[in-house]
Amino acid sequence: MGYEESWKQSVDEPEVFWAEQARLIDWKEPPRQILDVSRPPFRRWFVGGTTNLCHNALDRHLAERADQLAIVAVSTETDITREITYRELHREVNAFAATLVALGVGKGDRVVIYMPNIAEAVFAMLACVRIGAIHSVVFGGFAAHNLAMRIDDAEPAVLVCADAGMRGGKVIPYKPLVDAALAEANAPPAHVLVVDRGLDESMHLVEGRDALYAPLREKHLHADVPVTWLESNEPSYLLYTSGTTGKPKGVQRDTGGYAVALALSMTTIFDLAPGQAMLCTSDVGWAVGHSYNVYGPLIGGCTAILYEGLPTRPDPGIWWRLCETYKVRTMFSSPTGIRILKKQDEEWLRKYDLSALRWIFLAGEPLDQPTYDWLSRGTGKTVIDNYWQTETGWPALSLMPGLDLKPVRPGSPGFPTFGYRMRVIDDVTGEDKPAGEKGVLVIEPPLPPGCLSTIWRDDERYVRSYFGHFKGSLYSSLDWAVRDADGYTFILGRTDDVINVAGHRLGTREIEESVATLGEVAEVAVVGVADELKGQVPAVFATLKQEAGGDATAVAQAMERRVVELLGGVARPGCIYVVSALPKTRSGKLLRRSLQAVLEGRDPGDLSTLDDPGALEGIRRAIAAGPLCGHRREA
Ligand code: ATP
Ligand code: MG
Repeated sequence: MGYEESWKQSVDEPEVFWAEQARLIDWKEPPRQILDVSRPPFRRWFVGGTTNLCHNALDRHLAERADQLAIVAVSTETDITREITYRELHREVNAFAATLVALGVGKGDRVVIYMPNIAEAVFAMLACVRIGAIHSVVFGGFAAHNLAMRIDDAEPAVLVCADAGMRGGKVIPYKPLVDAALAEANAPPAHVLVVDRGLDESMHLVEGRDALYAPLREKHLHADVPVTWLESNEPSYLLYTSGTTGKPKGVQRDTGGYAVALALSMTTIFDLAPGQAMLCTSDVGWAVGHSYNVYGPLIGGCTAILYEGLPTRPDPGIWWRLCETYKVRTMFSSPTGIRILKKQDEEWLRKYDLSALRWIFLAGEPLDQPTYDWLSRGTGKTVIDNYWQTETGWPALSLMPGLDLKPVRPGSPGFPTFGYRMRVIDDVTGEDKPAGEKGVLVIEPPLPPGCLSTIWRDDERYVRSYFGHFKGSLYSSLDWAVRDADGYTFILGRTDDVINVAGHRLGTREIEESVATLGEVAEVAVVGVADELKGQVPAVFATLKQEAGGDATAVAQAMERRVVELLGGVARPGCIYVVSALPKTRSGKLLRRSLQAVLEGRDPGDLSTLDDPGALEGIRRAIAAGPLCGHRREA
């Protein structure tokens, strides 16, 4: 079956389609009912089936691929590479699981994991799901306050952490952050399990609460911990959204639906067969990391490459070198990651043997045309944009080279994947938009397997946040989109990223795209700023490439001309600032709301998701110095 036919079956006859896909994984008890929609907008997949993520990721592969590499954990921070086979991974996960059991962790208990992107983070995740405990991985770069908020929401029995992470050669002690978070939290866990990497000699343990993992591992190294079979809809893990638009939501993932969706995505979307290698440059702290650093490749019997380090250290060829060494077939990264490489010498793209590499998938933010062009031309590989959310757990829009590859249309993540019936509708009337017209991207219920089942302990917020916007219980993605005449979907930014200039509604995204067409511009963010006359006007913040030279004002003037040329006078920026860095969340997404607040002299609010709080200082200085051009300067 080609794409159209399979997709159609997946939405028209979901029971038939997904019953077939359920065979991609092992079940202890087969599902009694494929889909239950008796309580909309909730839905349950594979009702009555019992399974286990760890069994599907590990145990079931032992007969055939015990000696194949399961995980290669590469750190250019510690200069250590660990090649771990399925057999070894199974051993490590059993030891970790036995340790958790000894600490009193059982089915349904939560375990917060606060770790760098290292193998032990994977051991801990798999150990949790093995015993039916619910993990909540908190990205290791988050500060104590973020961690405390997530601890209070999840109320964990145990927290697993490392002594320290490293970034750019600098040790970042984690344990003091854990101590501070536990002091702040209302529901601190009884136990803290510390993986000591020997990076922080001054690390201090709290008597009675903290335990080092190494001696416990030693003790449990030969333990066999039976898997705990879960009903398909019982939770596997919690994961918080990035918090780009507000308070992070605790996405709750099911077990059976997630395993089936990942298994299907590995072959059809990522085109990977058992034994092949995938490099995912994300971090286990993000949704992409959960699905394609850990569960997806392991469920698919592949080799997962895990990377701790910067994309530019020891040099900007490091990712390509990993592709060569491990014969990576499919790589998964983000536009932000590629834009970092794009600031460097293009020769790095041609230095390594990439003959095994077929596909480069990018997700997380809009993929701008210059970045797409640079990467596809420089590598000669097919670059595939794919769109998803923490909520969906796997791509919702993508091309599917493993099934039937449609031609890439740059700027578009392509077509809905299995089970996603999507529409582009008017944000006011809820009517479908014709091709070529912009609207809100929504998903018709039921949400496919793998998508969130609810917000942790907050069904009401789940219903209100996602299903409360339009009639018909449609799931709102809160993103703008437009479909072309051939059905390719283009994402135009978030529904809260809209500027209203004298009654015209402009997406910040479109203005950013036009500024980015200038060769000197490295990155750009556009926000609306209050204007007495017009309501709002666009404010442009841009960073320049190194080779752009010294004349920032000339480049700013070129930006203004370009926007007017491409979008018309209505989009003419009110002010343009050239800065050295843009405020981004820890997951690399632009935090536009903080730019807007600073520009309007308001309190920027919760900055806890910001990667580098110092970035706003540079923004403040640039604003104080005045815009380089724009009609506000002339006024
Ligand atoms: P929060 O929901 O807490 O504000 P967030 O939406 O940034 O945070 P994520 O789930 O990490 O958290 O990000 C999903 C969002 O990322 C999407 O809704 C979309 O705005 C953006 N996105 C992801 N992939 C793409 C893509 N290929 N093209 C355009 N935008 C994308
Ligand atoms: Mg979101």
